[in-house]
Amino acid sequence: MGGGLAGMSAALSLLEKGFDVTLVERRPFLGGRVFSFQDPETGLEVDNGQHVFLGCCSYYIRYLKLIGSYVNTHIQEGMNIEVVSESKKGALRSRPFWGRLHLLPAFIRYPHLSFTEKLLAAYCLLKIRFTNRSKQLSLDNESAYDWFRKNMQSERIIKNLWNVIILPALNDGVRNVSADMALMVLQDGILGTPAASSVGYSKVGLTTLNGDPAGALIEANGGKMRLGVGVRNFNMCNDLVKSVVLSDGTTIQADTYISALPHRVLSKLISVVPNMEEIVSNLETLEESPIIGIHLWYDRQIMDEDFLAFIDSPIQFVFNKNSNQDTTGSSNQYICISLSGAWEYIDVPKDDLIERFTREMTRLFPRAMEAVVVRALVVKERSATIRCIPGHYKLRPGQVTPVPNLFLAGDWTDTGWPATMEGAVRSGILAADQVISIT
Ligand SMILES: Cc1cc2nc3c(=O)[nH]c(=O)nc-3n(C[C@H](O)[C@H](O)[C@H](O)COP(=O)(O)OP(=O)(O)OC[C@H]3O[C@@H](n4cnc5c(N)ncnc54)[C@H](O)[C@@H]3O)c2cc1C
Repeated sequence: MGGGLAGMSAALSLLEKGFDVTLVERRPFLGGRVFSFQDPETGLEVDNGQHVFLGCCSYYIRYLKLIGSYVNTHIQEGMNIEVVSESKKGALRSRPFWGRLHLLPAFIRYPHLSFTEKLLAAYCLLKIRFTNRSKQLSLDNESAYDWFRKNMQSERIIKNLWNVIILPALNDGVRNVSADMALMVLQDGILGTPAASSVGYSKVGLTTLNGDPAGALIEANGGKMRLGVGVRNFNMCNDLVKSVVLSDGTTIQADTYISALPHRVLSKLISVVPNMEEIVSNLETLEESPIIGIHLWYDRQIMDEDFLAFIDSPIQFVFNKNSNQDTTGSSNQYICISLSGAWEYIDVPKDDLIERFTREMTRLFPRAMEAVVVRALVVKERSATIRCIPGHYKLRPGQVTPVPNLFLAGDWTDTGWPATMEGAVRSGILAADQVISIT
């Protein structure tokens, strides 16, 4: 139930083991929160939001390879994020020779910190490297901000360095996220191998990358799909799910059920199911964080880099969709501004956002001053991900539930990962493994 990355990977995993699988998805297409749509004006495939992954997202990469889509992505050889402030441009660039400390030289050269700040940041990098998260469970109860402050990081180091990585990775600012999740991202992302820190992104629209090929493979492997019908409720019998009723009135009966539904949808469906009270109450307590994508088409080229991060600007990241999607020959330019943890803007009317951010683009990109925006589009995702705030982790249920034939998947389940594409794929495979283990 649920045809996002979690549901699709659970289905593919079970089909691989010879199970008879039916995938039910409320929308007429697969992909869930990773999708694209055709812009009626330009006819182009526009993503619901810029999605990136890191080289350490091994399950997501394996899933892309399985569905034949990895060729449609670009991944760097080691992290290279150019970071721009009012007057300076620096880069967080891996140097493979330095092994797991491959970003240390970048820290030393980083122009957005003073000499003393660089020393303190390098000290903190070592502290992160040698922190054993599994032995410090209290890390989930404190904010990353408090942890950084305790470890001699000034407001400026936090803003100009740590938040540049943590805000997009956790879809929330350093002040809000738990120290545990922030350290997880930094340990696995930037303190793993140089390859693990590489930034990857799609060269095609997200539905072409994810939902369409996964659906084709599910069908090719004998899976059935019910698209455009939602799960309306569960029929229970002797504490087991007997069948699920769909929005078109039909029912589906199975031996085992995996819910890969959004957590809020699931909590309503199971609110009347016996023994699920604790899970329901936890799911209702999880909070969500928004992402906004502002898509602008200019009548000429305004940027050359693949993407840029900004400090001292409301713009966090700008992606050059021409270079991302290999259409660099084009005379005009399509860019996407990505705003994570976007509470400040989520209720601002779209036209105001376009006006405000188009003006800011002219401040940051000199060539944008002369350029004309020929098309602009805003996509708001109010519930983009759950928030990784302190204490959130204990609210995330595992794959096994008190109902013996109902298992859970979704980026919000307990996967050890924040709510990401990697977490979603992992959750689907973990849920499928549970099904396999009981049959
Ligand atoms: C704008 C945006 C940008 C993001 N950027 C990144 C990024 O850069 N990197 C990254 O790793 N992650 C990113 N994410 C997060 C990532 O998209 C999610 O973590 C992942 O897609 C979640 O997958 P899922 O399968 O767990 O959930 P979902 O994708 O939400 O899947 C749940 C599915 O259930 C379906 N459904 C709902 N109700 C019913 C019902 N009653 N019956 C049947 N089906 C139902 C939904 O339609 C949906 O298809 C971003 C998310 C957004 C929104």
